[in-house]
Amino acid sequence: MQYNLSFELTAFAFLSFICVKYFGSRKFPDKKNTHFGIFITLAWASIAFKLICCYAIKHAQQIPPWMNNAIFELQFMLQYLTLFFLTNYVLMICGLWNKSSMSFILVHLILAVVLILMIAANSFTNWLFYFDEDLVYHKGYSYGLYTVLLCLSLALDSLLCIWNHKRLGQLQFLMVPTLSAMVLASLAIQRFYPDMLLTGFAFTMGTMLLFLDIQNPGNEQDFLTKAYSRERLSRFTQDLISAKRSMPLLYVDIYGMSMFNKSFGEENGNILLMKVASLLESLCPKALLFRYSGDSFLLLVPDVRSLDTAKVKLYDALERDFNLGFASIRLQLKLFTFTAMDKESSSESLARTLELAIKAMKDRPVNVIEHVSDFMVAKSHKSREIERALRSALDSDAIEAYFQPVIDTSTGKVVAAEALARIEDSMMGIIQPNEFIPVAEETGLIGKLGLQMARNVCIFLAKSKLDLKWISLNLSVADCMNPSYGKNLLFILRSYKIDPSRIVLEITETMAMLEEALPDNLRNLSQLGFRLAIDDFGTEYANMDSVLRLPFSLVKLDRSVVNLGTSLDRELIMSKMVGAFEDLGLDAVAEGIESADMVAMAKATGVRYMQGFYFASPLEPSRFLHYLDARRPADEV
Ligand code: C2E
Ligand code: CA
Ligand code: CA
Repeated sequence: MQYNLSFELTAFAFLSFICVKYFGSRKFPDKKNTHFGIFITLAWASIAFKLICCYAIKHAQQIPPWMNNAIFELQFMLQYLTLFFLTNYVLMICGLWNKSSMSFILVHLILAVVLILMIAANSFTNWLFYFDEDLVYHKGYSYGLYTVLLCLSLALDSLLCIWNHKRLGQLQFLMVPTLSAMVLASLAIQRFYPDMLLTGFAFTMGTMLLFLDIQNPGNEQDFLTKAYSRERLSRFTQDLISAKRSMPLLYVDIYGMSMFNKSFGEENGNILLMKVASLLESLCPKALLFRYSGDSFLLLVPDVRSLDTAKVKLYDALERDFNLGFASIRLQLKLFTFTAMDKESSSESLARTLELAIKAMKDRPVNVIEHVSDFMVAKSHKSREIERALRSALDSDAIEAYFQPVIDTSTGKVVAAEALARIEDSMMGIIQPNEFIPVAEETGLIGKLGLQMARNVCIFLAKSKLDLKWISLNLSVADCMNPSYGKNLLFILRSYKIDPSRIVLEITETMAMLEEALPDNLRNLSQLGFRLAIDDFGTEYANMDSVLRLPFSLVKLDRSVVNLGTSLDRELIMSKMVGAFEDLGLDAVAEGIESADMVAMAKATGVRYMQGFYFASPLEPSRFLHYLDARRPADEV
């Protein structure tokens, strides 16, 4: 038969192009990429052999019969192996290339054994093809079955992709089904036009789609520096951690990158990034370089010894001028190493540890390679534990409010209280705010925590019917910056019929120095009827300006200021301060009163209120009520 080869020749040209492009570009060295490489090579060889077969059919007489047989058998084998590696690849991109997906792999292997045996045995069975006495090529009677099995393999690949569409993402899961549909359509057309060879072309077009979309090497790389992307890093580290493996890493941040961009322009900034990337790549031949952020990289090296060698080479490079082409500079890098990847539970937990290390590195010197210690790892793990406890407490409405009494200095009576948050976790016990407040701030849970605390205070006030002058709540920066915080708070208060004038909102001195939306928001809170206190006064610069500028009615003198006041001079300073506040219409609270001496000093300075362990530490609601009951006049100061 005279075949029309134009489609197959085009397919061959396309596949050659894909192979050159794929093997010519840098790829992440993983199994998925290797199997894709094998797959396209086999597909290329299979089409090449198909063309040779067409030639052999036409010139059968001139070719020895054994060679004819061998060429055809090889063509069948290549065709099947192409599909075999396509399925391997699909199993990998679907995340099924592991022990837990043994059933899929088994079906795939059984199919492979059946087909390979069928092809290998053809010389004896003539099931797939044979040559008659005139050396004319004929399809064997199992050829149909063979085609059905190949189609089945493609259908299985498509089903796996559709089934795992979430993992593959939008449209990407359609690539393999599209390839299969094109091959099936070409088979159907071939039934009506047997001289028209189309399957190779359809297969190649499908492969082209795969190559351009899922398998494009550019997807995993940073366009500028050719380092692998952050996304690739998280998938790779996740795979390593799941396999309980570890790779030492070196973190490299270009110090003052934005300054460099401003001074030399972004184009030269790009050159700096590229040069640093190639310097880092040259430190260890087997290393994997990832772009971690705009101006930072992660170098993963095979073992600790390679890390040590890389460090020596890097120190050496840092001592010399760094040539950028247009200028020579002294590189300034923030650096650290980390070798405990196997102690992490996931790529996310690794990212958190790295973030913590990056933060800790902020005030470390440049060009010194620090090591992320076990202490830091433990701290990062603890913060994750705290986050778990915090989330679980927030979800189950279990944030607790403890109350610390505020005493009127002149009468010695409890007149108010400060609400302080606590978490009681089944695993970690009672967690203190200095542990969970920073975590709540980092994770954006602080707003929710603040509202739960407000609700707790309302419930307490509504139930206990105490006639305290106020209960104070501590505001977070997020609350201060949120223009609707006041309205939300008022909404909660109204549902418990509590007047806002009974609530004091404490804002730390550090927060009061924030400019931006703060003054408007605080004035708004004051207009809604809340009273405002400036907390921890004296921990910054005892900033009178913010006290005067903002509508405060209470000043809480920090423990450190009150402690200063125990000597006579300091007592004088403190009484002048208290006097000045009173003249301005602000009452002062001395915080951190721990002893009878401090009580005496506080009285002498004329401070209106006192708070501290000497009277009581923060107490859970029932104990606080008990404390109020038990405070007989004789105990009062
Ligand atoms: P703060 O607002 O300055 O609260 C006073 C802290 O000093 C409390 O610590 C209290 O237990 C402690 N304290 C009281 N009397 C004494 C004393 O005599 N000596 C000493 N050494 N300490 C004393 P706590 O409860 O651990 O809270 C720490 C910080 O956490 C608070 O400092 C506040 O800034 C923050 N915080 C607590 N609860 C909340 C909350 O619900 N929301 C927000 N945003 N922050 C909160
Ligand atoms: Ca406070
Ligand atoms: Ca305070």
